[in-house]
Amino acid sequence: MTKLRFSALEKANNRPKIQVESPGKISDYFADDVFDLRKMQSHLSPDIFKRVKTAIDEGIKIDADTADAIASAVKTWALSKGATHYTHWFQPLTGATAEKHDTFFDHLTGMEKFKGNELVQQEPDASSFPSGGIRSTFEARGYTAWDPSSPIFIYDVTLCIPTIFVSYTGEALDNKAPLLKAVEAVDVAATQVCQLFYRKVTRVKPSLGCEQEYFVIDKALYNSRPDLMMAGRTVFGHNPARGQQLDDHYFGSIPTRIYDFMKDFEIEALRLGIPVSTRHNEVAPSQFEVAPTFEEINIATDHNQLLMDLMNKVAERHDLKVLFHEKPFAELNGTGKHNNWSLITDTGVNLLQPSSSARENLIFLTFLVNTIKAVHEHADLLRASIGSAGNDHRLGANEAPPAIMSVFIGSQLTAVLNELEKNGNIKVEKGDNMYMKLGIDKIPEIILDNTDRNRTSPFAFTGNKFEFRAVGGNANTALPMTILNLIVADQLDKFYKEVEKAIAEGIDKRLAIANVLRKYIKESKKIRFEGDGYSDEWVEEAAKRKLTNVSDTPRALDAYLTDKSRKLFKRHKVMSEIELEARNEISWDAYSMQIQIESRVMGDLVLNHIIPTAISYQNRLIENAHGLQDLGISNKAVVENVKKITEYIETLNKGIYDMTEARKRANKIDNAREKAIAYCDNIKGEYFEKIRYAVDKLELLVDDEDWPLVKYREMLFLR
Ligand code: ADP
Ligand code: MG
Repeated sequence: MTKLRFSALEKANNRPKIQVESPGKISDYFADDVFDLRKMQSHLSPDIFKRVKTAIDEGIKIDADTADAIASAVKTWALSKGATHYTHWFQPLTGATAEKHDTFFDHLTGMEKFKGNELVQQEPDASSFPSGGIRSTFEARGYTAWDPSSPIFIYDVTLCIPTIFVSYTGEALDNKAPLLKAVEAVDVAATQVCQLFYRKVTRVKPSLGCEQEYFVIDKALYNSRPDLMMAGRTVFGHNPARGQQLDDHYFGSIPTRIYDFMKDFEIEALRLGIPVSTRHNEVAPSQFEVAPTFEEINIATDHNQLLMDLMNKVAERHDLKVLFHEKPFAELNGTGKHNNWSLITDTGVNLLQPSSSARENLIFLTFLVNTIKAVHEHADLLRASIGSAGNDHRLGANEAPPAIMSVFIGSQLTAVLNELEKNGNIKVEKGDNMYMKLGIDKIPEIILDNTDRNRTSPFAFTGNKFEFRAVGGNANTALPMTILNLIVADQLDKFYKEVEKAIAEGIDKRLAIANVLRKYIKESKKIRFEGDGYSDEWVEEAAKRKLTNVSDTPRALDAYLTDKSRKLFKRHKVMSEIELEARNEISWDAYSMQIQIESRVMGDLVLNHIIPTAISYQNRLIENAHGLQDLGISNKAVVENVKKITEYIETLNKGIYDMTEARKRANKIDNAREKAIAYCDNIKGEYFEKIRYAVDKLELLVDDEDWPLVKYREMLFLR
């Protein structure tokens, strides 16, 4: 094992440089590998193109003839690009993407073929994807169905068709199907509200821009750490002398090896139509960020999944390994994926963009306040939507938002809401300037130069969008975005009904709107927090406000199954009770499995690597102590170290033994929730810290030459 550490370091330090040739202007190759609208138009007859376009815009089903025509055009294009296979590309509940490739080549005719029905539907052998019991109770089979709203692309000489994955009885078995339904719900609700102001708006689409953080380390070093390989994070490792305290990495110059890697994956991402636009160093050493320009949520979600996959693939070429895990290294910043979200009308208006006209600002305030209210009403669901074993290590630790949901809007907007709250209930006479009376006539100038920033809030308004920062680096954005769009849809529906009621009672429309907003501002005040979200005072303050702070995923997941949530999902047809229950089973199981893996890796490392190393070093010390004694020289310091090592070894032996017993007990529990809680409390909570502490102390004591695991300082300062 010792050899592995040093041979890995040797390899890592002697990597040849990989040259990345620039393919020239981005506009020359952007979306080259995507069958986008432009390519559809040039490959399809005008009539067929029109039908597809309408189907995409209006979410209408595509008939068999049209599907055949599209399949034939897609085939021609794909073959011309050198593709040999096709696959339905989907996002099962494993958290990753899935694909099953079929060849275009038909050996009977000796030709390539691809029919409409193959484009539209496939039946992958679904039995080994998680279904939370849905398939066993109902139908054994599942199928994937083409989602024309996300463009077809070529990846690794394979034509990839974005699809949703459902059981034969119609239950969603993936992350995308509920997202599409939530997007539909918020479209309907937001459009209705928009029509209070503008008749012209007929569609509202949510947008998403993901800032993806990640760590990169050398592949040989990664391969020498069983914990990284098995669990995605280091379960042991003492903090390096220099961590992130100097803040010198943030926005610093990018190490050349990483820079080559970035350029390489960006070129491929751009070919795939992923509009990657920014890259920079993050706070922790070896931590970086990539962000594409925002897109429609459905596409942005697919693009983020594809980008993560692509980064893994390109990293291979550079002998690097990308880590998306939320907390790969203790004591350093974790990895998040900020989800920037807003609502945009088909007339091109960003509904969360303050404007220079008072009238339009009433619309802006409507969407702002309703979003805040939605978070207030369903904070627990939002918390649940970002829950995972990985994210639990991150939330509330080292510069990450805590598990308490709150909204930051900045001091200027706070002042605006205070004003509206005060002036909401006014009487308006004929000839009055209503906006002045409401106190919103002056807000345009104020809001437009709003430069307030607060990096510590889990849900912050950042000028023209909300930024949901609690999302984990490894998450599929479909989950939190399903919830966010669903709760905002529900809130907008309620708002619309209240306003309609007031109008029916003869109240002026704008005043009715202002009155309802005023009520919401009051009701949702406790969810707003402008201070330091990372501070201990906030945890206390939040408790006083009775905001929930559920620090672990197994319990956070309960939020999905409350009466209130079940009704909410049902009302907007986003998920049935069966689907909700199934998903929770899957999430609880995934949680237990992840902690089980971490716990096993700990056991393996401690018993087979750490303890033997500590003992052999200890033997050397004992020999040394005897030698010193024979010479009549004090051996006190050495004996002290021998004692300390003995103590740590005892702690470890007992810890691992007891933890294994606790695992055995947990494994006997049938109920998925109870089991996850047992893993959370009795295994992770009881032993992880204790064991880690002893190992990390030993790392400091044992001769560097003997230590079996690549150290943090060796992994994290790649140049
Ligand atoms: P930062 O938050 O680091 O200051 P930016 O605000 O420039 O960075 O943008 C971060 C992300 O937010 C980018 O992906 C950007 O495209 C996205 N974004 C900007 N405007 C919107 C919007 N209206 N809706 C969704 N995402 C947006
Ligand atoms: Mg940001």
